[in-house]
Amino acid sequence: MGQQIIAFYHEDMKKHYMGKSHLETPVRLDILINSLKQSEFDVKWIKAKQGLEEDVFSVHSKELLKYIKLATEKAPTWITADTRTNKYTYYSAMLAVGASKHAALASFNEKKIAVALTRPPGHHATENAAMGFCFFNNAAVAAKTLLKEKGLNKVLIYDIDNHYGNGTASIFFKTDKVLTTSIHCDPYECYPGVGFPNEIGSGDGIGHNINVPTPVYSNNNDWLYALKSTIIPVIQEYEPEAVIVSAGFDALKGDPYGKLSLNYDAFEYAGKLLVDSLPKKVRKKIVLVIEGGYKLPDLGEAFIYFLRGLTGKGMSLPKQMPVSRIAKKYTSHAQGYIRKYWRI
Ligand SMILES: [Zn+2]
Repeated sequence: MGQQIIAFYHEDMKKHYMGKSHLETPVRLDILINSLKQSEFDVKWIKAKQGLEEDVFSVHSKELLKYIKLATEKAPTWITADTRTNKYTYYSAMLAVGASKHAALASFNEKKIAVALTRPPGHHATENAAMGFCFFNNAAVAAKTLLKEKGLNKVLIYDIDNHYGNGTASIFFKTDKVLTTSIHCDPYECYPGVGFPNEIGSGDGIGHNINVPTPVYSNNNDWLYALKSTIIPVIQEYEPEAVIVSAGFDALKGDPYGKLSLNYDAFEYAGKLLVDSLPKKVRKKIVLVIEGGYKLPDLGEAFIYFLRGLTGKGMSLPKQMPVSRIAKKYTSHAQGYIRKYWRI
């Protein structure tokens, strides 16, 4: 048996549904679950419970919760052009919040990698607004849980989704207690149109929001080069006490909502690079919260490859990696904004 992983799931997270033509579908969870069941990992399954209103209020306004509740009662309601409710949305979103909170606590207490199999996703949800298929910010709730309940002062959020986690970044923009890092598709070309390298945080949080956009259709080498030469050394220097991963897999080549060109190996390397950059005692205090990933035939594999990297079984980066000139240009541009705060 492989390494033990704790997985939080509730099948009612599949009840939220945004219509036939929407690719953020319930079957995505079935795919992730089946791939985990068929994998080499020894999985401890835990039925997720709903989060509490207080958990939501730790990162969102009371108005947003009220609004999502009402939009669920009056379903179907279009919250934005791409985000709508059905009559289960609030319930499913609260299960995703609960799964994320309890996964964070379980991972920290048991020193094991935990996965919150969340739907709807969360990283675009800001303090006051639902958008981009997201209602409540699951990753932010998980991070806040560790700050509040475990008294931590340094939590890392590692976002590898194709799209910038604008919600997460904005929630923690003014604090250094959460380091938010995101590698994502060029915001000039991709949703949500923000996530530029100059958005570095403010006040106490200055230098603690690391944005690394990559050119559209970046391949493994270009993407990994950007990750390795910006985000990874910052994490090493920050020395987080726990890690939340916004685990989106829509950077896979051919994803219908993504514009990058990665294959499975990139995720394995991304997992391995992360783990190798962490202090030893933090290497299992890692929580995955599921974000995007819509290329259904490949979603499960990408997820398992990433877990292999996280559990230390992954490959190390090859010594020789040809990198394009444009990727180098984007990366050095991002480095320019953070060099003042970190040794990179
Ligand atoms: Zn995404």
